Order: sequence, then structure tokens, then C-alpha cells
Amino acid sequence: VARVAFIGLGTMGLPMARNLLAAGHEVVGCDLDRGRVDELGAERAETAAGAAAEAEVAITSLPSPAAVEEVALALRGSGIEAFVDMSTSPPALARRLAEELGAEGIGCLDAPVSGGPQRAWPGTLTVMVGGDAETFVRVEPLLQVVGELVVRVGGPGAGQAAKLCNNLVAGATMTALAECCALAEREGIDPVVLYSVLTASTGDSSVLRRRFPIGGIDDAHPASHDFEALFTLDLIAKDLALALQLADEHGVAAPLAAAALERYRDAQAAGLGGLDYSAVYLAAQETARD
Ligand code: NAD
Repeated sequence: VARVAFIGLGTMGLPMARNLLAAGHEVVGCDLDRGRVDELGAERAETAAGAAAEAEVAITSLPSPAAVEEVALALRGSGIEAFVDMSTSPPALARRLAEELGAEGIGCLDAPVSGGPQRAWPGTLTVMVGGDAETFVRVEPLLQVVGELVVRVGGPGAGQAAKLCNNLVAGATMTALAECCALAEREGIDPVVLYSVLTASTGDSSVLRRRFPIGGIDDAHPASHDFEALFTLDLIAKDLALALQLADEHGVAAPLAAAALERYRDAQAAGLGGLDYSAVYLAAQETARD
């Protein structure tokens, strides 16, 4: 049994913390929104440092790199053995934190996840880990509770790099799907027929199967529920910007990611940022009408 400080109990953090509790671990929760800790039904701490005071491991699932950095640095001197960031953050930040917290004897892992809340609740996420092997061995049993596939990709930052590569594909795929649907709509193709054709053709993908952007096809898809977010458009825009930053650091051209980000920025400007990222379709539809 480990004592875990879990900081950030949002769409992803809450189910992950819930699964750790259910597996018999002691969890102290911390979130700016106190209601989230109530929902978890665990001990509450007002601050991240307070949550970590008696914990061995601190885990974050936060919406921005700035929040991750602020929380991680507040954990210096807390006595934790390991810090695990499960948010999607820049690899450079993961490397810096590994150095800064490492100097205090705290092992650091970047362990971003894929699968959304649909796979967070049953504990079947994909967890991509960066960090030293020793810390990985120590923390892996906790990661196995929330994940079905837990992979150490490499040293500090490698998990985040893999995650950004994945989300570059997911973000670009969704914009392609939005353009496809806007075009098919113009052609008068029945969305039910379009979905059945795409899922049986080369246009198939897990993005398509989870968030076809035309409502009424599959009840599990956000488009069938006014685009209520499983993963917000604001968050995919954050991840694409981080992917572009990484591409720039390496001198890798990524015009496709840049074009996709522009579409999400347009959708954000239209007030759609808090919706699921499949709502980028609404912006594509508007363009089609112009
Ligand atoms: P969310 O906005 O639902 O949750 C974030 C939570 O953090 C909120 O409850 C917020 O109140 C809390 N918070 C913010 N700043 C805080 C602070 N300083 N201290 C304590 N709590 C704070 O976001 P989410 O969808 O759960 O995403 C979390 C992270 O996981 C993001 O980095 C995201 O990119 C990543 N992610 C999300 C999904 C998804 O499908 N939603 C999938 C994979 C990865």
C-alpha cells in the first residue's frame, strides 16, 4: 500500500485517483475545485504541499504546464520519494523537473496517458513513461492500476515526447474528419452511411470511432450530446502548440500540425474551447457555408 498525493482531480485525475483508492492505496486529494475532492471521497488537502506532507508519491493531472511547474516546485522539501506528472506537458519541463527535484532526492517520472475518461474509469489507459529506471520500477505498480499498457519510453521527457507525437496525429486527424464531414454534408451524403463507409475504409481511426463529429450516430460520441467534452478543444490546442514547439526545437517541419492548430484557434475564437475537440467540425461547417 502506498500513500499517494493526487493533485488535479478533473476529467482524468478523478477516475485515476478513484482506481488507486479502489486498489487499496491511501489517497490524499487536492484540487482548486473542492467539489472534485468530495466526489473522490478521499482525504482532502488544501494545497499540493499539504497533500504531499505524508505521502510517498505525488501525482499530478493538471490542465497547463504552468500549473504542473508551480505544483512540482511546491513539492520540494515535502519528503516525497517520487513525483509523477500524468498531465500532457512539454518534454523540456519534464527534464527540468527531473533535474530540480532529482537534486532533492525526489525521483521524477513523466507519465502522460492516452484513452480519455472512457478508458480512465475502467483503468485501461495507455501510460507512456519517461524517467530513470529505478523510479519507474518503484512507481510501476501504481501505474499498472490506472493503465492497461504501461511503457517506459526512455529517460526524462520521453513519455511526454511520445504523447505529443500521438496527439499531433489525433489533432490533425480530427480536423481532417471535420473537413470530410463538411464536404460530405454538402454532397448530401447520409451521415449514417458515411460513418459505415469510413469505419470500413482507409479513413478509419480511433478518433473517428470515438468522436464522429455529426450527432446521432453513436450515443457515446460527444457530438450526440451537444459536444459535452471528453477532451476539450482548449486541451488539444494546448497539445498541438506543444507538439509544434517540440518540432521547432528539433528543426522538424510540421505544417500539417500548424494548419490543424489554426482550425482549433478559429474554433476557440468562436467560443468553442470548452466543448469536446470534435466541435472543430462546427467551425468547418461554418467555413463550408461562407
Ligand atoms: P480538467 O480541466 O478536467 O482537470 C484539471 C483539474 O485540475 C481541474 O479539476 C482543476 O480544478 C484542477 N487544477 C488546476 N490547477 C490546479 C492547481 N494549481 N492545483 C490543484 N488543482 C488544479 O483536465 P483533464 O481533461 O482531466 O486533463 C488533465 C491533463 O490530462 C491535461 O494535461 C490533459 O492534456 C491530459 N489528458 C486529458 C485527456 C482527456 O481525455 N481529458 C486524455 C489524456 C490526457
